[in-house]
Amino acid sequence: MPTPKLDDNSIQQLKATLRGRIIEPTDKDYDDARKVYNGMIHKRPRLIVRCADVADVIASVNFARENTLLLAIRSGGHNAGGLGIADDALVIDLAPIKYTRVDPSARTVTVGGGCTWGDVDHATHAFGFAVPSGIISTTGVGGLTLGGGIGHLTRKCGLTIDNLISADVVLADGRFVKANADENPDLFWALRGGGGNFGVVTAFTFKLHKIDMIYGGPMLYELSEAAEVMKWYRDFIVQAPDNLNGFFAFLTVPPAPPFPENLHLKKMCGIIWACTAPIPKAEEMFKPIRAFKKPALDFVGPLPQPALQSMFDPIYPPGLQWYWRADFVNELSDKAIAEHVRFGKELPSMHSTMHLYPINGAASRVAKQDTAWNYRDANWAQVMVGVDPDPSNNEKIISWTKNYYDALHPYSAGGAYVNFLMGDEGGDRVKATYGDNYQRLVAIKDKYDPQNLFRVNQNIKPSGTKRTA
Ligand SMILES: Cc1cc2nc3c(=O)[nH]c(=O)nc-3n(C[C@H](O)[C@H](O)[C@H](O)COP(=O)(O)OP(=O)(O)OC[C@H]3O[C@@H](n4cnc5c(N)ncnc54)[C@H](O)[C@@H]3O)c2cc1C
Repeated sequence: MPTPKLDDNSIQQLKATLRGRIIEPTDKDYDDARKVYNGMIHKRPRLIVRCADVADVIASVNFARENTLLLAIRSGGHNAGGLGIADDALVIDLAPIKYTRVDPSARTVTVGGGCTWGDVDHATHAFGFAVPSGIISTTGVGGLTLGGGIGHLTRKCGLTIDNLISADVVLADGRFVKANADENPDLFWALRGGGGNFGVVTAFTFKLHKIDMIYGGPMLYELSEAAEVMKWYRDFIVQAPDNLNGFFAFLTVPPAPPFPENLHLKKMCGIIWACTAPIPKAEEMFKPIRAFKKPALDFVGPLPQPALQSMFDPIYPPGLQWYWRADFVNELSDKAIAEHVRFGKELPSMHSTMHLYPINGAASRVAKQDTAWNYRDANWAQVMVGVDPDPSNNEKIISWTKNYYDALHPYSAGGAYVNFLMGDEGGDRVKATYGDNYQRLVAIKDKYDPQNLFRVNQNIKPSGTKRTA
């Protein structure tokens, strides 16, 4: 579709209605404002609207629709496919809508659509509470939550969406609604896993968990032991108590403290643990883990929940080149493990990695028809991640990632965690990911966004039948 012409007048009118700022290509800070977390993404939007409040979001949605502008929604800007931004689009940048309100007696926290998980951890930890999220604290609440949310507390508390109580949403027609179990329950169902397809979420209310300290951190093993460790982990984690989470990783030890010098830049495998049992009990629970095999590095111990949440932030600052591929996994066969080890030995750069996140435990006890998130019976979400600071290594990290994925895909359960899809994987991957829930999502898309205004995402296409909300 050709880019619609925007006259200065209409932009001036929009500016006059906003509390926040509009950034245009002629502005000095345009190049900074259009950067997203993945340094591989270079998009040139037409307007970036730094929304200060819900009124700004409503005005921006109406403006984009009335001027037939492509609309992108940006929360933390972490999406690896760069789906928080698009060429020639109006970008609703939610970053200024950053507030947190903890209600300790109701055990809830309400957070603005521009918060990162670091903002939420900071606010809730002061009260001894936590919300399950991801593993990097700079990730946006918006994208992570709407896609599902997998992290250190998944086995104990479920996915992030399993802890979402209510959302404030600006719809495609500019109306503001609430989505929860009582108000617009169909929309609430779709938001829990359906991504940014249904509206702009300006606030999220989450259930809080009494989690303060964690007994956790990485336990690393020699690469020569990887097959043995993976087989042990495969059998152990599916029957472990819910309060014990551990994701498996291939990684390269960063060349800096606190890692011992003898391990610097060594390719290794490991498990990143997070146990929410009281510390003395957690120490008991780790006895069989430590007895299985002495790790080359045992960095597991008591630490405040936000410390674990931000442990890997320094290794992964914004601006690196990222490329990834993912699948859900039901079983880790010995053959699949042999393939993993083959590619784990060939990690193409210091930052590249592979993670196997457990999604059994509490997350698996929510029925697949209860939210849009379809793969409740899979045991793991697997992601191969090629990362490097230097763009001249892109071919190397991309081909390793694709080859690794191609070798393991035949052993997978089919679809992938929607937040681990790149932007270029196509509609069939999206359909496979939503599986049995896809047609219900299309019906809800038809109701709330029949013109597909919200399409810079893993898109659920409306069927074309117009219905009113
Ligand atoms: C380093 C890194 C670590 C990660 N770790 C994890 C992890 O541990 N667990 C996990 O589950 N995922 C993880 N992810 C994936 C992450 O969940 C997705 O990349 C997610 O899209 C990021 O959300 P964001 O708000 O930062 O992204 P953005 O790029 O801002 O947005 C991503 C998408 O979500 C939509 N969106 C965002 N906010 C809103 C909103 N308020 N209303 C409507 N639509 C919205 C956008 O339209 C866009 O399509 C990680 C990603 C990275 C890069």
